[in-house]
Amino acid sequence: MSLTNAVNDGPPSKRVAPALAASRVLIFDIETIPARVEFDTYDLKMRNPYIPHKAVKEPGRMLAWGAQWYHEPTKVMYRDVRHPDMLEDLWQLIDSASYVVTFNGDRFDLKKVRGYFARAGLPPFRQPKSIDLIKTARTFGFESGSLDYTCRMFGVRRKIDNGGANLWRACLAGDDKAWRDMRTYCVGDVRATTDLWDALRPWVPGHPIMGYPGDDQTRCPRCLSTEVTDVGAVQAQVIRYRQFRCSSCTGLFRTTVHSRTGIVRAL
Ligand SMILES: [Zn+2]
Repeated sequence: MSLTNAVNDGPPSKRVAPALAASRVLIFDIETIPARVEFDTYDLKMRNPYIPHKAVKEPGRMLAWGAQWYHEPTKVMYRDVRHPDMLEDLWQLIDSASYVVTFNGDRFDLKKVRGYFARAGLPPFRQPKSIDLIKTARTFGFESGSLDYTCRMFGVRRKIDNGGANLWRACLAGDDKAWRDMRTYCVGDVRATTDLWDALRPWVPGHPIMGYPGDDQTRCPRCLSTEVTDVGAVQAQVIRYRQFRCSSCTGLFRTTVHSRTGIVRAL
């Protein structure tokens, strides 16, 4: 895709970065069962929503997960609580990933799985670099920073909606249709997150470097493409860097090839 086309056509719903095949990127999403609380109160209007931890009768736990390797676009893996190795299998995937892509993973999914794994007696997993797309979504000033709305803004299709807050309840009651919906929902969110990463890639602030292919070429840190154009210098306070634009994903980056310039500073 040429840069001109990418700009003129607006944000495409699907971009691919084939050079990332060796980068071990795992996209994942978890579904959870909320904590069950029980407490006594005189405050029937619930003016004080504070719930003491002693009121927790059953802590929250994992209901299901979906995950996909970026380099295996047609395959999405899925497990739920009916599978005895649900937690262990997700642990294996995260432990062998160099990068994880999530929507709100830093505040939710990655924290939750740490707790679930630790309580299940699993060892700490090797820490992947995290690309949490909710942080990029919030830089746009859209009306909502939700996965659903961000997908809508970028023309990324999601298959079905959550099906209501009680879908997990129907699942645990043994409703086969609810389990099928849960699977469709969870797998759909993983696919949507993957497509969203393709759409948002150039906009992710400070995107991690996606690998070092071991040649001397100047590569885009986001998609590893070598089709990059020098678009001039960036002057920091003291150091001048070269700035590049990637012709594949349109992202900007700068190199460490820099020069110290005569130091002038506005006073
Ligand atoms: Zn790129």
